[in-house]
Amino acid sequence: MPTEDAHNFESPHAVRMSLAAAMTLGYKKGLFYRNARLYCINLLLTYRQGCAAKCAYCGLSSHRRGTYEGKSFIRVPWPMYPVDDILERISERQERVKRICISMITHKRAVQDTKDVCRRLRSAFDIPVSLLISPSIVGYDDLVDFKAAGADKIGVAIDTATPDLFDRFRGSGVGGPHKWDRYWQCLTEALSVFGEGHAGSHFMVGMGETEEQMCAALQRVRDAGGRTHLFSFFPEPDSKMAGHEPPPLDQYRRIQLARYLIDGGLFRADKFGYDGKGRIRDFGLLPRELDEVVDSGAPFRTSGCEGYDGQVACNRPFANSRPGPLMRNYPFPPIREDVLRIREQLGSAAGEGLEREE
Ligand code: SF4
Repeated sequence: MPTEDAHNFESPHAVRMSLAAAMTLGYKKGLFYRNARLYCINLLLTYRQGCAAKCAYCGLSSHRRGTYEGKSFIRVPWPMYPVDDILERISERQERVKRICISMITHKRAVQDTKDVCRRLRSAFDIPVSLLISPSIVGYDDLVDFKAAGADKIGVAIDTATPDLFDRFRGSGVGGPHKWDRYWQCLTEALSVFGEGHAGSHFMVGMGETEEQMCAALQRVRDAGGRTHLFSFFPEPDSKMAGHEPPPLDQYRRIQLARYLIDGGLFRADKFGYDGKGRIRDFGLLPRELDEVVDSGAPFRTSGCEGYDGQVACNRPFANSRPGPLMRNYPFPPIREDVLRIREQLGSAAGEGLEREE
């Protein structure tokens, strides 16, 4: 049976896969907390030299000790498997797999390999494919090629909310190749090729930004026609930020709620109220309107690309926090007890009603 022994392989013949995806495809045994299920197969291109970038928080950074194969990525191991075998396993589970995502790393062969792997997947079955790309090595023509290869969505992981934080953790601060302006430009290009709502960005909460700065970044993406997906910073052991704490839960909950309002076009970041430290003080909605949104539980579910059914397929169970009542992103709809706990976690801005009068 093909397993991680495929170490001699590199992309495009082999790719790495999230542990949750490996469970979905039957490579690994196990059940997730509360029986969470993953509907997206998250793949990661892999090369012996690893990633040329040096992002301070990333488990794959070339700064981090150890071989590339042994490195974890966003909290959990990403085992490697041959692409041929993955294709076979997906085709046997087509009712279960609602999306596939190919993540590039910053490596000179990654652009062409992304096109090749995408084309192979799209010609084998009709499951939509997202590409999470590295703007430092991708040009406009590549975006056109990605679309021709069958991808329908593009993710650009800007990750940090301000140019200073970007430069400090991904650019000149770590001797890395990434540039803030290029990431935003690439997002705009992706939107022009793929269309409104078909490109977006990931952001990581807890990198030192204020809530107001994060809301402004989320709004900037929405105004450009893009969508946003949230991660909570998690310290990868041995990375440059191994000693940096995850963001406080109340901060993460407020940003989840803000993202939901902004991304859905329900309210604007510049209409929220902020305190002197840039924390969200009120969301500008009437208390009963805000109650309805919080009670739905929807803002606290994992934000990610959808399947053809319009439901989030990329729900990344426990990818950036440990399973349990303190989970950051809910990979399933929160039940009533979850919502009550979320209200406590939210703090005064939404957990106990608003300061504004109805
Ligand atoms: S949300 Fe998921 S499927 Fe979409 S680009 Fe990000 S990792 Fe890929």
